[in-house]
Amino acid sequence: FSSTATAVEEPITPPVKINYTQLLINGQFVDSASGKTFPTLDPRNGEVIANVAEGDVEDINRAVSAARKAFDEGPWPRMTAYERARIMLRFADLVEKHSDELAALETWDNGKPYEQSAKVELPIFVRLFHYYAGWADKIHGLTVPADSPHHVQILHEPIGVAGQIIPWNFPLLMFAWKIGPALATGNTVVLKTAEQTPLTALYVAKLFHEAGLPPGVLNVVSGFGPTAGAALASHMDVDKLAFTGSTETGKIVLELAAKSNLKPVTLELGGKSPFIVCEDADIGKAVEQAHFALFFNQGQCCCAGSRTFVHEKVYDEFLEKAKARAMRRKVGDPFRKETEQGPQIDSEQFEKVLRYIRSGVESNATLECGGERIGSKGYFIQPTVFSNVKDDMLIATDEIFGPVQSILKFKDLDEVIRRANATRYGLAAGVYTKNIDTANTLSRGLRAGTVWINCFDVFDAAIPFGGYKMSGIGREKGIYSLHNYLQVKAVVTPLKNPAW
Ligand code: NAD
Repeated sequence: FSSTATAVEEPITPPVKINYTQLLINGQFVDSASGKTFPTLDPRNGEVIANVAEGDVEDINRAVSAARKAFDEGPWPRMTAYERARIMLRFADLVEKHSDELAALETWDNGKPYEQSAKVELPIFVRLFHYYAGWADKIHGLTVPADSPHHVQILHEPIGVAGQIIPWNFPLLMFAWKIGPALATGNTVVLKTAEQTPLTALYVAKLFHEAGLPPGVLNVVSGFGPTAGAALASHMDVDKLAFTGSTETGKIVLELAAKSNLKPVTLELGGKSPFIVCEDADIGKAVEQAHFALFFNQGQCCCAGSRTFVHEKVYDEFLEKAKARAMRRKVGDPFRKETEQGPQIDSEQFEKVLRYIRSGVESNATLECGGERIGSKGYFIQPTVFSNVKDDMLIATDEIFGPVQSILKFKDLDEVIRRANATRYGLAAGVYTKNIDTANTLSRGLRAGTVWINCFDVFDAAIPFGGYKMSGIGREKGIYSLHNYLQVKAVVTPLKNPAW
């Protein structure tokens, strides 16, 4: 293996201090009821960054009752929508002011390149809150004509207390996707962060309170899934649940919601997205985009283009260039400016990715490059490319969630549509072609919530995102996300004088 990978024996000291490690309940930082803490680890070397308060059932109960009180009695759902928007905008300004520290903290806790945290994710975070603040005072109902002499108003009201559970791959962006629409529509929230990455949510939640958020509106509980997460999903006083994570856990929380109070649930789950390179594609660009589609964020994206289908006429050229690109990928300390790829999040994901690589080799896919860990510390994996991948191999059916590109060959459009759709997932798809007819055929034929044509991972605040099939239920971002947090009430009044 001759990539520019370097082992990270001497990690760069992150330019940020850890200030917040407790739970944030009712506007106050507090210890967990049990007094227990858990360590959050640096993925570069497995060392402890900080010990964080470990929320459990009792803490979820405290947080839900704070959110309930803030919803039932507090100012948040009662203030004008414009006032809510002003607080959200002040919050976005504070995040912008603190974005260097936040980017460093995100990189330290997650392992993603600092350049990506600072230049991509923090600006998107701020943009998302500008977008949702813009919605706050534009949420209004309808009047509808009735057959009988009645005045009929349709009111859009906040749903109440929202429980939200997020994963570790984009801790700040998942916070924004969840909190933005919930607060813009006047709800209150209990957020359970992922146990691998609790730090940045606590920091931004503190800033939100500095911006004027009333206590109890946003409560952040760090902790584990089967304890704190399950308590939130099954809580009788939570009116709505939003979850992002694996399909497996999505099924569990949906069941918990059903068995408790039938709270409505939105789910953003896993994927095995096809990236289709047609024979007329600009191969140089297609190679670069397919590489980005898979390797971005260490391959830890729910929508990663993890099945690269390449037309047989351009397959050899594509493969040679894709392999060369992967071997040039710079893996190293995420705080180094030139680093494109940092470590995987933790030992569990690291071992899982290496197991899938072994399974690819055992099932006779051709290992073109990579396949090994890098260095002896932390969770760095070589950018890995497999060719000759067949549809039924595990590396083609399962979500690997790591830097492993699987390249498959196809002959014609009908065949590739059928094969691309032959998955339990349906989150996203990429298409590379210069032919408008081919682009239209593929975008209509692919059963996925997003189809990116000649691009990938374009994530504007206004573009809805979510999955077909077992990739989820509902959409986040855009106007669609607001409906997840609104109740619809019909108010019917007789008209005294129907003529007027
Ligand atoms: P995960 O499902 O294990 O965990 C996600 C969250 O659920 C965490 O906060 C975790 O603590 C919590 N959780 C775990 N068990 C729980 C339980 N029994 N009850 C309640 N909560 C529980 O997933 P992960 O490994 O942390 O994240 C990776 C997965 O998330 C991937 O499969 C990826 O595709 C998916 N993901 C999807 C999207 C999307 O938008 N569709 C975005 C990011 C990640």
